[in-house]
Amino acid sequence: MAHIIWLRNDLRIIDHDIFHALQNKSIIPVYVFDPKDDALDAWGNPRTGKHRKRFLIEGLRALRDELQMRGGNLCVKYGAPKEVFASLIDSQEIEGIHTYVHDAYEEKQQETAVASLGVPLHRYDGNTLYHPDDLPFTQANLPFVFTQFRKKVEKTTSVRSFFPTPSSFTVPDTFRDWGDLPELDDASRDSRSAFPFVGGTRAALDRLEHYFWETDALAEYKKTRNGLLGTDYSSKFSPWLAQGAISARFIYHQVKKYESLRTKNQSTYWLIFELMWRDFFRFCAWSEGNRFFRMPKDIKGIRITDYERWKQGATGEPFIDANMTELRKTGFMSNRGRQNVGSYLVHNLNVPWYAGAAWFESQLIDYDVYSNWGNWTYVAGVGHDPRSRVFNIQRQQQMYDPNQEYINHWL
Ligand SMILES: Cc1cc2nc3c(=O)[nH]c(=O)nc-3n(C[C@H](O)[C@H](O)[C@H](O)COP(=O)(O)OP(=O)(O)OC[C@H]3O[C@@H](n4cnc5c(N)ncnc54)[C@H](O)[C@@H]3O)c2cc1C
Repeated sequence: MAHIIWLRNDLRIIDHDIFHALQNKSIIPVYVFDPKDDALDAWGNPRTGKHRKRFLIEGLRALRDELQMRGGNLCVKYGAPKEVFASLIDSQEIEGIHTYVHDAYEEKQQETAVASLGVPLHRYDGNTLYHPDDLPFTQANLPFVFTQFRKKVEKTTSVRSFFPTPSSFTVPDTFRDWGDLPELDDASRDSRSAFPFVGGTRAALDRLEHYFWETDALAEYKKTRNGLLGTDYSSKFSPWLAQGAISARFIYHQVKKYESLRTKNQSTYWLIFELMWRDFFRFCAWSEGNRFFRMPKDIKGIRITDYERWKQGATGEPFIDANMTELRKTGFMSNRGRQNVGSYLVHNLNVPWYAGAAWFESQLIDYDVYSNWGNWTYVAGVGHDPRSRVFNIQRQQQMYDPNQEYINHWL
């Protein structure tokens, strides 16, 4: 009898609740490419753009290597998860399917479909910094405002320790159907990128080593985090966190180690503070269900010309166009950039915010359903802070790119 580990945004073996729990059992780790993810969205954007696809394939390659080095393997399948698992259950003796739980609509629908197959579906938590079971709130009374959430959690809750990486894995002797990964599109790389890294845990750990221990950039993070150019103004952990190549819990304990061995200051605290934002949006989706997305019942039509100009980086506003060009060419954009282009789309171009969120979903290599939609509702003033955040783009450019280095880099 074997267990299926259904991998989604948890492409790692380090600090993985499920690999840890099943380390002495026979397992088939499976990643499913669902054709739905390659479809076009309501605005004609590919739901998974080429940059995130490349980063995902790199992450899967790295995971397969890690598993194979320890006697395991990664099974790669194409189709709707329910059909994929139905056929695996037909051909193998499967005792259970194990996956990290999700609180977003489509992911939950997939879970319900897979749960109907008659094999027990075991759901795990643990892809966040704080474990939901340790929170001082119930699902129904999560604070509406981030600061209240943060203050109470900081006072009452500890981050759990992380799980060690299993040293070996067992797969069923008779199983041969591991499948092939899609080809990598290396041509989609742009050498100007602020994120020149590849997917997978090895690259994530190398980045942490560089940012914390080799350069001490962590100790300056609070001062540099609003930067626009280069690799080191911020941690760049988000793409690996989004694919799950590294866990927030693991990063937290590395920060604590850094604080005890090197330095503890506002910057080291601030990285954890930002990781709490990630948790907050995730838990808001848990607490609110579909209301979290704040999607209106009737999706308003959009002024396609303005939307296209924004997407292409051709609005005529250089600071916006530089940021949008960076996103289109690389799949990454700084947090400062994201806030500005979001405000510009919503408040200057009067295009509905959810069309912007859809473009980000298509393009971002760090696309995360909770962080993306949570931040967009913030930018649009329809989410957890109803204050309208209108940015004066020219003033922002003078503050953050006074010599136009960033603009010249991209335009
Ligand atoms: C409109 C908009 C859309 C966004 N969409 C996403 C998204 O899809 N995925 C995503 O990971 N982040 C998103 N963000 C948040 C933020 O811009 C990125 O997390 C950050 O720029 C990633 O770079 P970094 O890893 O170097 O961040 P750092 O500044 O080094 O922060 C460390 C980590 O903290 C977390 N974090 C930081 N800021 C935020 C935030 N505002 N919300 C949630 N988590 C945060 C991330 O996990 C990040 O990796 C969005 C922000 C805006 C304004």
